[in-house]
Amino acid sequence: MEAVSPYTSGKLLTRTIRIDDTTLRDGHQTPGVTFTVEDKIEIAKMLDEIGVHQLEAGIPVSSPEDWEAVRQIANEISRASVMGWSRANPRDVEAVARTGADAIAISMATSPVHLKYKLGISWQEALSRVKEAVKKAKALGLYVSVSAEDGSRTPYRFLRRYAEVIKEAGADRLRLADTIGILIPDVTRKLVKRIIRDVGIEVEIHAHNDLGLAVANTLAALEGGASWASVTVNGLGERAGNAALEVVVTALKVIYGKNVGVKLDRLYELSKLVEKISEVPIGHFTPIVGENVFRHSSGIHVHGLLKHPYTYQVIAPEEVGRKTEFVFDKYSGKALIGYKLNMIGIELPDKVVEELRFHLVQKAYRLKRALTEEELKNEIERFVASRGVVASETL
Ligand code: MN
Repeated sequence: MEAVSPYTSGKLLTRTIRIDDTTLRDGHQTPGVTFTVEDKIEIAKMLDEIGVHQLEAGIPVSSPEDWEAVRQIANEISRASVMGWSRANPRDVEAVARTGADAIAISMATSPVHLKYKLGISWQEALSRVKEAVKKAKALGLYVSVSAEDGSRTPYRFLRRYAEVIKEAGADRLRLADTIGILIPDVTRKLVKRIIRDVGIEVEIHAHNDLGLAVANTLAALEGGASWASVTVNGLGERAGNAALEVVVTALKVIYGKNVGVKLDRLYELSKLVEKISEVPIGHFTPIVGENVFRHSSGIHVHGLLKHPYTYQVIAPEEVGRKTEFVFDKYSGKALIGYKLNMIGIELPDKVVEELRFHLVQKAYRLKRALTEEELKNEIERFVASRGVVASETL
């Protein structure tokens, strides 16, 4: 039995899907996050170990530190492809090649607003710059992904032309960037499908989370035919961040039955490592890795979960390196008490269990929080001891 819905169970993805993790580039662009060379290597090694296919390791031209990080990662990582980020100019492209990275992400803005206000260049100039950069990168032997930055606000005739130009210049894939996170899944799916149909180029989706749709848009793009997903650990990134690696790969498994080769049971470990190094705390409700997502207290839920893990969970927590946690709170019931009593090895008559429940609910209200598993155990033992008669009554 799987945690499937009859409404999504037919949505199988049979194509090869690969993960491009950009924690060390777009994630590193999070204001206030600073990864040293050593930090980057530690994260890169774990990303490689858990099966990510490509690591966007940094922006070599930005600082000696980032250059050195990309160089060392390219040198030390053997399995995953290592990518450096570059603007569409010869100096940036050469810097990436010199690090020893095998892949490059060349970025050029394509939307009217970016061309006019940010770059102040014409559409023709943008095309010519990106064309030259791609040719140079290919001549240097790099795998080339080309971003259409702000692609989601680029009129289709331009986006299509851009994809044609980069393909002709030798690019290996188009990175469709939803730079301000403005797409919706239905549109994303159709847009990706259309680009692939019209141009015949591999597409990578790079989605931002400004409206909370990064993961949804990423999945929709994959449904539409994209073969690469650009993600970050814990969704780190500019503003509201990027599509979270741990959510995308878990959703691919749960919803689409797709195993992309990333070890789900190590996602939590990876997430905690990035939390520690980035010093950006994981949100309480963050899917898959948040404190709360496998913690249960209310009576009806606990009762169901004690019978089967999928009654109230999208995946069994062990599959993503987590554990189910039962805490006692104002809505907790006798199932949780019974479960605890059983663990302690005590049996109580129903009437006393009800009294105990009342006592524990009062306690939770006084504390204005849930009792942890440990506190619950102690509280039950104290209650039982204070009513020594009761324990013997049960035998
Ligand atoms: Mn981005």
